[in-house]
Amino acid sequence: MLAKDSEVQVIPLGGLGEIGKNMTAVKYGDHILLIDCGLAFPEEEMMGIDFVLPDYTYLVDNQEKVQAVLLTHGHEDHIGGLPYFLKQIKVPVYGSRLALGLVERKLKEHHMERDIDLRPVKPRDMVEIGPFQVEFIRVTHSIPDAMAIAIHTSLGTVVHTGDFKIDHTPVDGDIIDLHRFATLGEQGVLLLMSDSTNVEREGYTLSEHLVGRSFDEYFLAAEERIIIATFASNIHRLQQAILTAHKYGRQVAVAGRSMVNVLAVADELGYLNIPEGMLIELDEVDRLPNNQVVILTTGSQGEPMSALTRMAFGEHRQVEVLPGDTVIISATPIPGNEKLVSRIIDQLFKLKAKVIYEGSSDIHVSGHPSQEELKLMLNLLRPKYFIPVHGEYRMLKKHAELAQQLGIPEENIFVGEIGQVFSFTSQNGRITGRVPAGRVLVDGLGVGDVGNIVLRDRRDMAKEGILIVVLTMDKQTHQVLTGPDIVSRGFVYVREAEVLMEEARLKVVSALEKCTSKGNCGWSYIKQEIKSHLGKFLFEKTRRRPMILPIIMEVDKSIASTKMD
Ligand SMILES: [Zn+2]
Ligand SMILES: [Zn+2]
Repeated sequence: MLAKDSEVQVIPLGGLGEIGKNMTAVKYGDHILLIDCGLAFPEEEMMGIDFVLPDYTYLVDNQEKVQAVLLTHGHEDHIGGLPYFLKQIKVPVYGSRLALGLVERKLKEHHMERDIDLRPVKPRDMVEIGPFQVEFIRVTHSIPDAMAIAIHTSLGTVVHTGDFKIDHTPVDGDIIDLHRFATLGEQGVLLLMSDSTNVEREGYTLSEHLVGRSFDEYFLAAEERIIIATFASNIHRLQQAILTAHKYGRQVAVAGRSMVNVLAVADELGYLNIPEGMLIELDEVDRLPNNQVVILTTGSQGEPMSALTRMAFGEHRQVEVLPGDTVIISATPIPGNEKLVSRIIDQLFKLKAKVIYEGSSDIHVSGHPSQEELKLMLNLLRPKYFIPVHGEYRMLKKHAELAQQLGIPEENIFVGEIGQVFSFTSQNGRITGRVPAGRVLVDGLGVGDVGNIVLRDRRDMAKEGILIVVLTMDKQTHQVLTGPDIVSRGFVYVREAEVLMEEARLKVVSALEKCTSKGNCGWSYIKQEIKSHLGKFLFEKTRRRPMILPIIMEVDKSIASTKMD
């Protein structure tokens, strides 16, 4: 039997086999470090769900071991879960000033900014946490100050790239620290976890700089207003838009709460260069000539409530899209959002705007590495073991193949699942167990209170509608006093289905009569009878199965009458 601290364990709790809610535990002896604490956005069938968190059960069960959370960067899929996690387990959080600035904003919304110990770190900082030496290494990505993390233990070094690309001409000039990665590789890396998002793309991901060049061309050609929709957190792109606007004598207004927030944090922390007087309020836009205006907005994914959608459909309070406006959608639709994005583009064309979107030009580049960059990272670090992370199953698989081509033996590569425990000694690596892992759904203020049954009900209601049967019944005699009345939503258009609804009502009456004649007057029995009789009838008539909800109120007439005396 090995001593407890003769192995390093890595336990991914999110981000494997999925895009989003990234979180990885690294355990050595009685000490756990967490890399990132993200959230995921709901899939289409998760109706009404705002977002999804990793299942933290394993960490709650081992909370005395948890030392700290280390952040790779400030994207939602890496920091979004923090307020919920920190409510359960209070530990220090290490990250760049920008990532922590964005975290602080979230903590304020949850009224918990005073309770949490936020510790800013810079690239090449080395921090001692328990038995770990933790090192932060600069990478380039679609948000400033993204960092890979190297965790040094007495058994070897574990490197997590975080999200990265290799951009030799980044907008802020902060180049990825290839020297440090090379040195680590030279010294020996036990395990590498690396970003798999773009592994399906050959070649290199283009530099963010190219987007600036395209902006320049479109700004030169634009005669009316320019509206740019992009990701709220893409500070480099916002920076390029602002400087290009300055060059062409335009002023900039910002729409969309998340973008306003990110810009405020980034500006306050000195991550932005905004020439004096460049920013104006949205309601000042109308006072300027059209050719002196740029509007930066959220909504590049066609989100129905976003500022761009509201502008396009005439529902925005301050801005509407005018004929001749140039609208640049500087993003790629995230898989699943394609329809929403095309709906917006169509609408913008109808308004006679000039629409520039992906497929028609270079107005977006990815923040993730393509195959050649992934190969370079693998070759620089030359890890003994490799776990591809940050990707759906096929991406992890592809990334594993890539690593194999570069000479990492197949048995040293793990295509894993969340909840699996990967254990490494200096001699071997294997899967040694499993901890609880999965997803926790957040709906409004409720965390984890919407489970599969609630989701199934929401799906049924959305598909077939709902029918509510209301009646009052005498508690003693079981005589029906009022009703049954039927109210429906989303099932049929009632005014054109009066006959059907009356027939349905009669079905309920006969179901009730059957119950009383059998002398079986228990509540749940009556409800069940109404559901099955009515359900069968409606299916025969309409081939639909709406949700049926009987509401029976019992009235105790003897009490009612005594009270009346
Ligand atoms: Zn990211
Ligand atoms: Zn990410």
